[in-house]
Amino acid sequence: MKKKAIEKIPYIGIQRVSRKKDAKYIAATMVKIVGHEKHLITEVYRNKKKDLAVPLVRIVLTKKDFGTFFVESGEWSRGMISGRGYTNVYPVWDRGGRIYDAEKENVLRSKEDLQRIKSFPGIEEKPWRDLTWYEMINDRMNTITTKERRDRENRRYERRKQELKEREENTPEIDEQKILDYADRVIFLEKHYLYYKKHGVRVRVACSKCGGVTERRWKPGISYESQFESMIEEPRRGYSGACPLCGARGEWKPQGKATDSYSKEARLFVGQKYKETGMVFRYIEVEKEYQLGLICEEKGTVMQNACEQLSGIEIARVYFEEGREPQKDYHKYDPYSGKDFWDDCNLYGMANISISEAPILRETYEAMQGTILQYSAMQEYEAAESSCINPVEYAERYLHTPQIEMLTKLGLIKVVEKLVKQQYGIVANAHANRVDIFLGIRKEHVRQLIRHQGEESILKVMQTEKRLDQHWNDEQIEKLAEVGAGVRNGWTEVLEHTGVQRILNLIEKYAGVEYGTGCSRATSRLRDVAQMYFDYLSMRLVLGYDMSNTVYLAPRDLNAAHQKMVMEQNKEQADLRIREANLKYPLIKKHYRRLRKRFCYEDEDFCIRPARDAGEIVMEGRVLHHCVGGDNYLDKHNDDISTILFLRAKKEPDVPYITVEIKTDSLKLMQWYGAYDKKPDKKNMDRWLDNYVTKLKSGLIGDGQEKQRVLVLSA
Ligand SMILES: [Zn+2]
Repeated sequence: MKKKAIEKIPYIGIQRVSRKKDAKYIAATMVKIVGHEKHLITEVYRNKKKDLAVPLVRIVLTKKDFGTFFVESGEWSRGMISGRGYTNVYPVWDRGGRIYDAEKENVLRSKEDLQRIKSFPGIEEKPWRDLTWYEMINDRMNTITTKERRDRENRRYERRKQELKEREENTPEIDEQKILDYADRVIFLEKHYLYYKKHGVRVRVACSKCGGVTERRWKPGISYESQFESMIEEPRRGYSGACPLCGARGEWKPQGKATDSYSKEARLFVGQKYKETGMVFRYIEVEKEYQLGLICEEKGTVMQNACEQLSGIEIARVYFEEGREPQKDYHKYDPYSGKDFWDDCNLYGMANISISEAPILRETYEAMQGTILQYSAMQEYEAAESSCINPVEYAERYLHTPQIEMLTKLGLIKVVEKLVKQQYGIVANAHANRVDIFLGIRKEHVRQLIRHQGEESILKVMQTEKRLDQHWNDEQIEKLAEVGAGVRNGWTEVLEHTGVQRILNLIEKYAGVEYGTGCSRATSRLRDVAQMYFDYLSMRLVLGYDMSNTVYLAPRDLNAAHQKMVMEQNKEQADLRIREANLKYPLIKKHYRRLRKRFCYEDEDFCIRPARDAGEIVMEGRVLHHCVGGDNYLDKHNDDISTILFLRAKKEPDVPYITVEIKTDSLKLMQWYGAYDKKPDKKNMDRWLDNYVTKLKSGLIGDGQEKQRVLVLSA
């Protein structure tokens, strides 16, 4: 859009105000050629005599583009006339959410104007309805935007397709036979099967390696001739034997236990150099299939032949290139065309391909020379790990956190494992190049950490030491790691009053076993005791005890002291809730005197009275284990909407029994409950409460008694 040129075009100007009722804005149009292109210019004016010279907005439409110029601010917008956000931009149509009378408010100067809009290229009319002038323009804007978006998507799709093709073309050939040989050797361990079926002293053997079938004697005969027959070892299921034909070692498998086809699958990686400095990891699924051919004869099924077959299919590729995000391509199958193809996105749902740990072909590491993964130390990492690794994950993490090379080479394998799984919580400073700063530990402990391969329990203790600015020796660190101190909180606060050695000694004493025995039972005992001790310490601290007092720091009986703290803490919490409730609901206490007069009642067996304060309701709820202590009951009582009453045995007036809620004004019985939301002695209590409510209503209780008397007197 040639904005400057368009701005220079003089305004259309309107001669006279529209007389139409409700017309707030009036629009006029013109068609101008700007830069060899037809422009439909629509100007909107305020429908007031003084405003007819300068429009509010100028809406410009060409065959393929549009824009709106705000005259006052001099700004251009590409918003649409209708649609979300529009009303904020265009004061003209700011309808405050009402659009139904927009048509009356936005009129067009003349029929010629309407004709000009209708005949502009691209403008469409709707056969079933006359569109307003702004609807026609708006629809056109919509069409243009949609097309632009579609074009954009198409371009992106084309680009992706182009890049995919380019990657495919640059991916080196793969030596399939080499991969299958490797898989057979390393994954399938060159396993063969010797199928067999015994009959009498003879056995029929089918070998999956050579495919041959033969019959041999496995038990020496008694006849003279039989001594010259060649013998084989007795086949035993699951044991290893040698094929009498080709000599290959294989596992004996009875014919009756063999299916005609059986296969094993596995996955592996082979990495190749990609372009100048990139790498591509190819994820391949290999399969070894064993087949046993059977034919039916009179005597039953007989083994005919056997074979084994290796096959492989590449299922994913991951490309690493300098300065680019890793790109994963997936091998897909199109059931309609029956063709395989590569795609740059994964399959959805169940068919989703996940790339996980698998063996890596040796030549991968040779191929890494000169690539961005040359110094990744991936080979060292794989060697240090006891099981397979996922080279894709490792490479991704290495490119993100290059310190992984150093960590791997130092032998801090457990740390690397965490990072590869994207658990960065153990990193203290992600930008540091020194291992002690990176992990947030003291420099002098790095060697010790390496001895433990970066074990998390040790690392956490070292990080705690550094954080607390403590100095612990190797032995102390190892003991703390053994009791799991690094991951526990609370205990470190007592270090103000005592040394770490004292704490370690106490744990040893309480546990009654020594550190560092290597015996897992002793270690778990130490851990359990330490956990209880740390628990105990943190409760003491929270309850505000002075931890410089040895009696608190080192109780004679840890179990008993721990138990005591648990009880104290519970009581503390309970008291806190009661204090809170009384503060939050002060009116309950205030209402009590008045309510008491109104609701107190007793007979030979039971007494009933309102709650004295909010705390009493909380306690009632806690003792009876029901929800009356909750805020909504307290709210209602506090606001005088309903009254909570305690019904108790006359003999035990302090023991909660039944809690009753009554509507304060209508005296309607809302509900009553005993312990655990149950209704004890229901029939009896229902009757008792009915009777009570009746008495309340008829004024036979409390204040009512007075009123009744007054009524009687006045009558
Ligand atoms: Zn054989």
